[in-house]
Amino acid sequence: MEYVVKNIWSEIDNGKIMDFAVGYKKFLEVGITERVIVTMLEKEAKSKGFVDITGVDELKLGQGFYLNHRNKSFFMGVINEDLKNGLRLLGSHIDSPRLDLKQQPIYESEGMALFKTHYYGGIKKYQWVTMPLALEGVVYRKDGSKLELSIGRGKDDPVFTITDLLPHLAAEQMDKKAGKVIEGEKLNVLIGSIPLVEGDKDPSVKKGILAYLSKEYDLDEEDFLRAELEILPNLPPRDVGFDRSMIGGYGQDDRICSYAIMKGFFDCENKDSNLLACFFDKEEIGSNGDTGAQSRVLEYLLEMLIAKTGMSASPLGVFFKSRGLSADVSAVDDSSFDGVFDKYNRGRMGYGPIVSKYSGSRGKYDANDASAELLAYVMNVLDENKVMYQFGELGKVDLGGGGTIASYLSQLGMEVVDLGTGLLSMHSPFEVASKADLYMTYMAYRAFLEN
Ligand code: MN
Ligand code: MN
Repeated sequence: MEYVVKNIWSEIDNGKIMDFAVGYKKFLEVGITERVIVTMLEKEAKSKGFVDITGVDELKLGQGFYLNHRNKSFFMGVINEDLKNGLRLLGSHIDSPRLDLKQQPIYESEGMALFKTHYYGGIKKYQWVTMPLALEGVVYRKDGSKLELSIGRGKDDPVFTITDLLPHLAAEQMDKKAGKVIEGEKLNVLIGSIPLVEGDKDPSVKKGILAYLSKEYDLDEEDFLRAELEILPNLPPRDVGFDRSMIGGYGQDDRICSYAIMKGFFDCENKDSNLLACFFDKEEIGSNGDTGAQSRVLEYLLEMLIAKTGMSASPLGVFFKSRGLSADVSAVDDSSFDGVFDKYNRGRMGYGPIVSKYSGSRGKYDANDASAELLAYVMNVLDENKVMYQFGELGKVDLGGGGTIASYLSQLGMEVVDLGTGLLSMHSPFEVASKADLYMTYMAYRAFLEN
């Protein structure tokens, strides 16, 4: 029989889909950085009675636990049975492409003060100019005190921006290749223009800004060396389309899957299996560093779980018996950019989360290539629970590709396959997703944990 994939909107109650998206829009609006999302997840886990695994000597079966890993990545779960039976794991990431401030960011030129930035993750640099931007992150003062900065998103806040050249003078710029139209060193953020006048010294806009930062926040220029500050698109999430069927907003890669995991995990009614939800940092720059999926944080967590439940198992033994979904976004076909997808193997908007057997690029290089056995298992779970989903490859074979945390989870010994929502305009300041696909992604994650 022919394999047919159906459009979700025509098959299920549209009210359920619309209702589910309301909470997601709030999550996306508040959860603007990985640090903020960790705080939100921790608050949510605590309110449901979960305990900080580092703060207890013993963990009882059925007791929810969490690990806040350096305020950048987050893990929560429940051990319901012998760890030797493995885990059901869902893993997403909570970092998104953005601009980070350089360590010595402030300078002045032509009567303006600006921030130097270094972009984080794969962006099209030309998309980040001439729009309102927000500043978010943390700074430590010399005395050790911590300052959390969030400027731009409040109703009366000032915003920041990166300028572009007027078309009248852009003849040379317009002849450049897209990657060179705006170069990395031109992503400079406008932050002020009133000079400080001190005696006979030359008036200085930079000093004007430093005086403001000192007065308002007790910050010195040196404090920016002890900081992680991000420049982000300042566009609140909005419904897209006359029919409000889509959501537009920044950071949906991969906060849409993160939200679906959080909801699926808390709504799941499985009291018999071991469940773990993971929210990693640093995916967008290769899952590196102490808070990325290539770090050994999962082994560390497993060591604690084994010790605190008093079970006899090894982390490796647990991983080898575990199954996981790598919950990261994929792309849906965009007819305005015809020809980049294989039309027989691409994701489409409104047809459900996309299962990707493999990722990688140019001949599956660097891919996690899930087994037929795992696909049989996952498809059976989804079908039994009436989850609508589709299979898709990220673009034509020789055009490009990408990786997810799937390969790092599978290197630990787990069976893992990618399953996540498809986006339009991925990695742009305003990514677009279907509310129907969001809802079905949640249903898929919940079904995977429950069955
Ligand atoms: Mn992603
Ligand atoms: Mn990405």
